[in-house]
Amino acid sequence: MITFALHGIGVSGGIAIGRAQLISHATLEVAHYTVPSSRVDQEIARLDFAVDEVQKELTTLHGTMMREGELPGEFGAFLDVHWMILNDPTLAEAPKRIIAEQRCNAEWALVQQMNVLIDQFDQIEDAYLRERKNDVVQVVERVLKRLMGKPGSLPTSVAEERTILVAHDLSPADVIQFKTHHFAAFLTDLGGVTSHTAIVARSLSVPAVVATHNARQMIRDGEMLIVDGSSHVVIVNPDRAVLAEYRLKQSEFELARQKLKRLRGKPAETLDGHRVVLNANIELPGDLAQVLDSGANGVGLFRSEFLFLNREGLPSEDEQFEAYRAVAAGLAGKPVTIRTFDLGADKTKEDLEGLARVAPNPALGLRAVRFCLAEPRLFLTQLRAILRASHYGKIRILIPMLASVSEIDQTMTLIEQAKESLREQGEPFDEKVPVGGMIEIPAAVLAMGGFCDRLDFLSIGTNDLIQYTLAVDRSDESVSHLYDPMHPAIIRLLALAIGGANKAKVPIAVCGEMAGEVAMTRLLLGLGLRDYSMHPAHVPTVKQRVLSSDVSTIKPLIDRIRRTDSPAKLAELLDKLNA
Ligand code: PEP
Ligand code: MG
Repeated sequence: MITFALHGIGVSGGIAIGRAQLISHATLEVAHYTVPSSRVDQEIARLDFAVDEVQKELTTLHGTMMREGELPGEFGAFLDVHWMILNDPTLAEAPKRIIAEQRCNAEWALVQQMNVLIDQFDQIEDAYLRERKNDVVQVVERVLKRLMGKPGSLPTSVAEERTILVAHDLSPADVIQFKTHHFAAFLTDLGGVTSHTAIVARSLSVPAVVATHNARQMIRDGEMLIVDGSSHVVIVNPDRAVLAEYRLKQSEFELARQKLKRLRGKPAETLDGHRVVLNANIELPGDLAQVLDSGANGVGLFRSEFLFLNREGLPSEDEQFEAYRAVAAGLAGKPVTIRTFDLGADKTKEDLEGLARVAPNPALGLRAVRFCLAEPRLFLTQLRAILRASHYGKIRILIPMLASVSEIDQTMTLIEQAKESLREQGEPFDEKVPVGGMIEIPAAVLAMGGFCDRLDFLSIGTNDLIQYTLAVDRSDESVSHLYDPMHPAIIRLLALAIGGANKAKVPIAVCGEMAGEVAMTRLLLGLGLRDYSMHPAHVPTVKQRVLSSDVSTIKPLIDRIRRTDSPAKLAELLDKLNA
């Protein structure tokens, strides 16, 4: 067996040793085989059957959604587009000819025809129509899943704790399903360091390496792997000496982690007496145990949109209320900041695709608060649920992706509307529930005055702030080398935001991945930050760094960092800061 290494981006530290389990992806892994002429009709019938089943699926979906009136007309239009694609002879009939002519299996014929159609779409000049090729791919995926017995879905059981999952790409919705499984590590061909897939992977507290480019092709099921998330490397078929070396490293890593746990009860305070709040980020109520174990002050970011993924339809007000109440009550008086749902872009689901994903550029489209304001009924349902839960603990509401004050004003009107309806029903809630906004778009930093005037607190989402400032898609590994948290523009925006909020006496936090990166702890401290929210596993390491820092000695270095435009100089100054 040949030993080789694959390099990627380690998005979650630590070392795992185990056996590979490959995860399939319908359009990528379609088998190609010839069928005897006597079976050609059977193969065509198989295709017909799968197409019929998907037609029924679309009809049911259309009927249910329209009946429940939960989603507006665009969603119906989107389903109609899929229906039309499915019934168009270029998709419904052409593959049959391919089966007959090439005597191949139905899946293969369908993918051949899909590629022909994609090529045709690529020639179209109109950008909107060109993007419709994604609808073709989605329809084909649906038919393929029928033909192959849902091979695109994730394994329902992962064999053992020493299993390492290897996938071409996974959506955040796929990864969140893994929370109920035990496995040792995780690697994907695609993905960027702050993609939601990576963030969720990190929250599983297993080592993970993304952007390995072709791991899915190079690795076979059952092969022995070492995943070193801290060194961004995967070793395939290691020999005995390498295995022994990594087992040693693994136990050293574990020992260091255990030692850090002793800091759990200690307050985070710098050497010169500055108190720092260290909160935790969560995706689901089930993450609470880890938060309590980490010694975090509370929850600084509850990404509530994950309640909407991996389920039929959308969560009702009562279901959402139960989830928020459970977190608020579980924290027993410690604060919990619930971010209103940030759906759209990479966090979407089939029932929402018509609204969110079909946009020509989803990250700049109807995402987060924009989606909420376009769908006030969905937004009001969530606001009522959060307000009702505010009676059972210390809840704060956080609005994502704000770009202008008019969005704040509209949101405040809806919050007031939700409160009024609860008052009328005699439902108890916290009348003074604080409302904050996320600073994730450069425009929000540059026009912060209006934000400070209207909001009770702010939280900087560095993951998106970096993406939108540098125009680098956070989930696209082909530009991940350009995703630079230490870009002078980012440091200046952080300085402006933190300095501006401190001056206006509006509490400000950082809840993006940067808050959990120990190499950034002192930089943020020096910029005046006193409130961090991060994955719970990072709380002890960041606390240790806070405990060993002295703000007064950091300050002169920070001034130099803020002034320089040279990346080399910045790197040198950051090294000094962390020495
Ligand atoms: C961020 O953008 O930094 C953030 C915390 O929000 P999310 O990662 O969920 O987009
Ligand atoms: Mg964000």
